[in-house]
Amino acid sequence: MIDDDLPRTHFDPITLAGVLGLFFFAIIILVNMLDVRETRAESGATPTAAAFQPTFTLDPFPTSTYTHTPLPPTWTITPTYTFTPFPTATATDTPSPSPTLHPSITPTITDTPAPTATPTLMPLPTPHQVISWTLQVPILMYHYISTPPDDADIYRVDLSVEPAMFRAQMQYLVENGYSTIDLYDLSLAITNKIELPPKPVIITLDDGYVDNYWYAFPILQEFGLKATFFVITEFVDNNYASYMSWEMIEAMAAAGMRIEPHSKTHPDLSGRDRDYLIYQILGSQETIAAHIGYTPRYFAYPGGRYDELTMQILHELHFWGAVTTQGGKWHNFDSRYEWPRVRIRYTTPLAEFAGLVAAPGTVGGKPSGN
Ligand SMILES: [Zn+2]
Repeated sequence: MIDDDLPRTHFDPITLAGVLGLFFFAIIILVNMLDVRETRAESGATPTAAAFQPTFTLDPFPTSTYTHTPLPPTWTITPTYTFTPFPTATATDTPSPSPTLHPSITPTITDTPAPTATPTLMPLPTPHQVISWTLQVPILMYHYISTPPDDADIYRVDLSVEPAMFRAQMQYLVENGYSTIDLYDLSLAITNKIELPPKPVIITLDDGYVDNYWYAFPILQEFGLKATFFVITEFVDNNYASYMSWEMIEAMAAAGMRIEPHSKTHPDLSGRDRDYLIYQILGSQETIAAHIGYTPRYFAYPGGRYDELTMQILHELHFWGAVTTQGGKWHNFDSRYEWPRVRIRYTTPLAEFAGLVAAPGTVGGKPSGN
């Protein structure tokens, strides 16, 4: 009989040692594991294979089933127009005179302080002392310099001047003391009161007809005169037979003639949206710049058609001015995108021409508000 039925806790010494031994062994294992983790966390080192066994395996990347299908042969990538930033101004960006062609006006231009070249496109100089000068300078407007074909209509004839007449007109200018300047000279005279030579006149020829190169260019060179040619760039790009080639245009630019944009395709620019105007104006400007080495700053409205937005775009694109087909001789800063011209017609006799180029009071014209 058991005299004590209370359960007795009885620990066999051997069993107790075994249990304690297992307990301490488990403690040691646990402490080691924690130590490994802390060491990894502090060092950031890559765990060794012994310390870190990945519990997953990366499945191999599935074999690609995509195959590149080449574009069908009939597909062509059409170049789209992108608005590119203005090229960085360089030393050649500043209009430079051509002294060999125009010795008479070289001193005046030499005295002109060259506009400072800046990293961005050079803007039109601001009027001197907030005054712009209103100057009377005839800007002559020509188109064809050739004998009209027999089947020419009245408009084609009216846009033409016979080469012999053109030569007589140029000779008249030289023999009567006129000096040809360009639109850059006019801008600087208006804004900075740069003195112009006596009896200045500006000669412009619109559209870039090939007869300009064959007839007008040699006659101008013969008399040491310079002119401004407004060209339609896409017509040149397309090698249209009636228009000058880039080779001809580059040769004239190298000889001191001014080449300025007259749009890409000669559309009516009134009532158009911004994108279209930028395409036509900036597009033709950049194309010419690529061929003549500097950015042209003047525009002639195709057909004389434009509106407020057209002028606004010219302003945004840092054009210095634009010429219309309206008649007139007075120009100032405010009217720089609407400078009028003097149309020389097929039927204009030399005596009438003399009156058209006469511009008393040209030099030192009256100041106006800017
Ligand atoms: Zn035109």
